[in-house]
Amino acid sequence: MTHPQTAPVRILCLMSDTGGGHRASAQALKAGFAELYGDRFQVDIIDLITDYLPWPLNQIPKMYPFLSNDVPWMYSALYSSQSSGSWGNWLAINGSRMAKNSVRKAFLQHQPDLIISVHPLLQLVSMWVMDEMPHRIPFVTVVTDLTTAHPLWFNPGVDACYVASEEAYRFALSRGLRKDQLHLFGLPIRPAFARPALSKVELRAKLKMDPALPAVLLIGGGEGIGPVEEIAAQITQQLSASGKATGQLVVVAGRNKTMQERLAARAWPIPALINGFVDNMPDWMAACDCIVTKAGPGTMAEALISGLPIILSGFIPGQEEGNVPYVINNDVGEYSEDPAEIGRIVARWFGPESAKLQTMSDKARALGHPQATFDIVKSIAGVWAKARQQATTPPK
Ligand code: UDP
Repeated sequence: MTHPQTAPVRILCLMSDTGGGHRASAQALKAGFAELYGDRFQVDIIDLITDYLPWPLNQIPKMYPFLSNDVPWMYSALYSSQSSGSWGNWLAINGSRMAKNSVRKAFLQHQPDLIISVHPLLQLVSMWVMDEMPHRIPFVTVVTDLTTAHPLWFNPGVDACYVASEEAYRFALSRGLRKDQLHLFGLPIRPAFARPALSKVELRAKLKMDPALPAVLLIGGGEGIGPVEEIAAQITQQLSASGKATGQLVVVAGRNKTMQERLAARAWPIPALINGFVDNMPDWMAACDCIVTKAGPGTMAEALISGLPIILSGFIPGQEEGNVPYVINNDVGEYSEDPAEIGRIVARWFGPESAKLQTMSDKARALGHPQATFDIVKSIAGVWAKARQQATTPPK
């Protein structure tokens, strides 16, 4: 007997490319749904701001790199001015007002059974649009910041809200969300990080690394930004100060091809591997002993899962600010913007402070949430099941 095919549950995932993290989180959730439920759920990811909103709102993602990297003071002012009556709040409310018709059209076009938002700017407008629709679509927010999260992430009208740290949980409560709406599972990281890695020996052979020397991984985010070259120079100088190599360096230059070429053209005093954008980050992290990175939440969450002590070399004001005390207070690393100091920290960790490095590695692993993506996905499937049950149960 043939069974009628059940149509997949349609999930619309709202994101926008302001930084790489929102798309990465959306893709991790989509992969999590596929791994747990096969084709039972169909997840469509859309850049709601760029592809659906009118000008000038659709220019926001293009302005983001300029604001966060070139004029961080302005970004910081915009980020923090959220009291009612402030210009940040005025912009958010008026932008949402302008976006309403386009967002309604997007919802009608996609006809989702459930909506996930992984972007702070998309809660308010979505709630307004759904208030005027005949049927309420289940709506959940997955916060992609680690500790400091903007107030706009938190809307008490959502069915569920997923956060990644105690700090974000407490802040969500202070913004009026209830405990039964809130879930602390960790950041949605691609499922590959939840699988056990090969041994360090096997990975180093596969990645053509030195088998024995301790290894530092240096990353400038997906775009390869920040003083990566100066930091590489200082680390290699410190790790060769005794006349012989006391460590090795792995650089991930991301999409910054010019920097990758400049780094690859240099002669290094210790074993050094220079990569562009890598697709096998779980392998590189599992093969190394510590990481130097800006305070990007994705990279930090992945490093913790991989047991890597972290040296933070900078942060974007606003959403990455709280990630610095998070690392220090949890005793999983240090913060320094000075390349020479970063070089000295790595040399200490690979020399006289190797026991401390091991302790921090254990603490990092304990703080990581390798199953977060699956926990979030299962919980969202539960939100959908509950909503469906309510919709199909006749009123008494
Ligand atoms: N990443 C990667 N390959 C690279 C460089 C970065 O897969 O060559 C990934 C990294 O593992 C992380 C994300 O890009 O998942 C960067 O996210 P993060 O939140 O740290 O920083 P962003 O670049 O979004 O500011």
